[in-house]
Amino acid sequence: MTTHSHEQTVRISCRGYLLKSKRNGSSRSAASRDVAASRDANGASFAPWGRSIALSVPSRLDVRPRVKFGSHLGVERALRAQRLTFGRAAVLRCSVMERTFVECIAAKRDGLPLREDEIRRMVTAFTDGSLADYQMSALLMAVFFRGLSDAETVALTEAMLHSGTVVDLQSVPGIKVDKHSTGGVGDKVSLCLAPLVAACGVPVPMVSGRGLGHTGGTLDKLEAISGFRTQLEIAEFTRIVRDVGTCMIGQTSDIAPADKRMYALRDVTATVESIPLIVASILSKKLAEGIDALVLDVKVGSGAFMKDEPSARELARKLVRVGTQAGKKVVAVLTQMDAPLGRAIGNANETREAIEVLLGGGPADLVECTLVLGAEMLVLGEKARDAAEARRMLERAIASGAAASLMETMIEAQGGDPRVVRDLSRLRVAAESVDVLAPRDGYVTAIDARAMGLSAVVLGAGRTRADQAVDHAVGIEVLAKPGDRVEPGRAVARIQVHRASDAAAVFDRVQYAFSFGDVAPAPRPLVIDRLTVETA
Ligand code: URA
Repeated sequence: MTTHSHEQTVRISCRGYLLKSKRNGSSRSAASRDVAASRDANGASFAPWGRSIALSVPSRLDVRPRVKFGSHLGVERALRAQRLTFGRAAVLRCSVMERTFVECIAAKRDGLPLREDEIRRMVTAFTDGSLADYQMSALLMAVFFRGLSDAETVALTEAMLHSGTVVDLQSVPGIKVDKHSTGGVGDKVSLCLAPLVAACGVPVPMVSGRGLGHTGGTLDKLEAISGFRTQLEIAEFTRIVRDVGTCMIGQTSDIAPADKRMYALRDVTATVESIPLIVASILSKKLAEGIDALVLDVKVGSGAFMKDEPSARELARKLVRVGTQAGKKVVAVLTQMDAPLGRAIGNANETREAIEVLLGGGPADLVECTLVLGAEMLVLGEKARDAAEARRMLERAIASGAAASLMETMIEAQGGDPRVVRDLSRLRVAAESVDVLAPRDGYVTAIDARAMGLSAVVLGAGRTRADQAVDHAVGIEVLAKPGDRVEPGRAVARIQVHRASDAAAVFDRVQYAFSFGDVAPAPRPLVIDRLTVETA
């Protein structure tokens, strides 16, 4: 853009500072976009994230350099602050210069905000290959250290969501609600929750993951059912949600592909443990399912991603705020993950335990977790007025057999053997077992859930590389939970293996995962807190 001699150019940087005033100068035009010199064009919409803006103004006006204005004020207010008349008479031309990808990475490295369109451009470029892996890695590391505001996290989530297909579930009547858990050891809640909630009339479209690190994955557990297919086309997924009420599949290549590639980079660049990146990763996948509402189970403790309550709370709050800003109804429940949930850790054994819940049995903590999350889903799905009514509905669906029947129908629709529901022995668990015994009398005071999860991985129930197959039959049964009284020689855990000698690889680790004491530990409530948009 060339200015006339009677004009001066004022450059306002993206940081929201008036950097310099130059008489008879010309602004850089290479990456700039000329816009009309009007009130509209120069209004606040240009400035919220502080683009670099060059304004040409008549030279008679006194433009003082280095006058600070908050980026949120926008150009118009900045000009007013300098006693410039805003409008055609004063502002003749305005150019907006886009930052290059390298400038954006540098900006985040220096702790400056990125604009929504910059985030979108970078995610699009990464998805189509024009932004290199090393540049995305640098950005991820910059985000790891500098964080993202809620607005930036919403922009990242939506960019990742729209990098692929967003399932259209408008043909399915009702409010579609899903649940996501941040992952734990023995967490098989999804398997019983989805059919249970669907049996109460709320459609549950569920895209789940595989085991990650020491935590198990819903897909691996479902695939312990002979014939069960988790890789379905979107059309079939939609049809099953509509006809059955729920369908549980894996992330297809066209659901949030940017997340898939970004997650793979995060995994090898030590950038997984970043709250805004976790939020965008989880929500981009979940929003792609075509849901209206989401319940988040944010696990806290040794077996969870978030080991301490403050960081779990921070993650939960950001998930709720960002999910709400993305237009969904979101509730988060903070739950305890210091000890494994339920008694089974593995795949086939966990699927058995989840089905037991649908048949009216199952361990108390697993039942409680399922009912708490299910009640939230029924309220969000507007099938119950409050949690108490929702809980009664869930209990009725179990007692009447409706939930177990729905599980059978879902398994059949997805190609699996529905007879597993009435005959749990069809879920094959390894034939040999080795017991770990209590060394003393007293109480179990704690179980290191992470050590138990890692032991299951070593047995083959999980993976150490993404391309590994899992062994559905092996696992660990927790026979004594925190607070249980034991005497010397009582079995506290059972290692389920194909050959007894296979247990040696994990025996010590399982044994040392248990702590004992003379006094029973204070009972810890499963639910730590519940967060909604009002409290997040
Ligand atoms: N689960 C996800 O889907 N993404 C993360 O980043 C972490 C856990």
